[in-house]
Amino acid sequence: MKIETLAIHAGQKPDPATGAVMTPIFQSSTFVQDGVGRHKGYEYSRTGNPTRAALEACIATLEGAEFGLAFASGMAATDAIIRLLNPGDHVVAGDDVYGGTYRLFDKEFRRFGLRFSYVDTSDPAQVRSALRAETRLIWLETPTNPMLNITDVAAVAEITRSQKSRPYLVVDNTFATPYLQQPLQQGADLVVHSTTKYLGGHSDVIGGALATPHAELNERLAFLQNAAGAVPGPMDCFLVLRGIKTLPVRMDRHAENAAGIADYLCTRKEVLSVRYPFHPSFPQKELARRQMRNGGGMVSFLLHGGAEAAQAVAEGTRIFALAESLGGVESLIEIPAAMTHLSTSESSLAVDPGLVRLSVGLEHVDDLISDLAQALDRLA
Ligand code: PLP
Repeated sequence: MKIETLAIHAGQKPDPATGAVMTPIFQSSTFVQDGVGRHKGYEYSRTGNPTRAALEACIATLEGAEFGLAFASGMAATDAIIRLLNPGDHVVAGDDVYGGTYRLFDKEFRRFGLRFSYVDTSDPAQVRSALRAETRLIWLETPTNPMLNITDVAAVAEITRSQKSRPYLVVDNTFATPYLQQPLQQGADLVVHSTTKYLGGHSDVIGGALATPHAELNERLAFLQNAAGAVPGPMDCFLVLRGIKTLPVRMDRHAENAAGIADYLCTRKEVLSVRYPFHPSFPQKELARRQMRNGGGMVSFLLHGGAEAAQAVAEGTRIFALAESLGGVESLIEIPAAMTHLSTSESSLAVDPGLVRLSVGLEHVDDLISDLAQALDRLA
């Protein structure tokens, strides 16, 4: 079946007890047992819950994976992956990853003896030369947050396979979603999501998820999911399941609007450069087109006026709301260096303070362009 069909049906069927078409919100912490250890598959909702199980199966199917696990947030999912490692292990990560990912790695797990190298993963040669005998994990984001750099997942997967220590290859697929790209089909071992973003799609839930084709990895991660307990509640799982049903149509419109906005921004004299993966000016447009179905809904840009101009534009829009996060139906604008990526400010991952990031929503593109136009006009 095609992903448009799977997004609506995978992991879900009408409730056998009532015929409810939508997966019920099983808002129960515990489940009655017929006898000691004899039950219907569920004992306690930290370990497993039917609404969560439907979401986990749905995400696994969309990513072309055998196994899926849902978490309380994208960071909780990332945390579970890093806990697979032991003190002394080494991680190669992109030098342009989400600020919160960097914060967890640098401020927390370095303390436990893990070592991290941050390289430009859009150049696979840099990944190769960063590898050590102790490298156990390669962490990619593609497109990256906020620069939208693209990494060739298949090329990095090949490097990973040729390494004796056989590190796990992890791809944060939050920006692209399985509708635009399926990293596991290109050789990744694990996909991680902030379901808060496009999968949820409506800015009303915080969540995370993992998907993997490997039974042994799934077993270890499911153990961690239950042991540490950073699980989403049934209502949150329901909201993500509902969001996923419209993922393909939303992503098509997000991309159509984002491409229109990238074109428009390029016509403005105040704009220094625009980052959008499918735009003719994007240096990696061929790789992006090979790896992704469309360019997604995120656009970043720099202004000639630097940080001051960026702040004025971000504070001057009326439809684009000044807010963190992304991937919802409504358009958002932010300054990564001062907001989502503040934790990288003293590091080599620091973002240009003049960069503006847009999460382009589903409003009419003409209205979005008019809104940006009036905000840019005020710079004159
Ligand atoms: N990965 C990426 C690419 C993100 O943009 C984010 C959040 O912005 C996360 C992970 C973390 O997700 P959450 O906020 O759901 O913990």
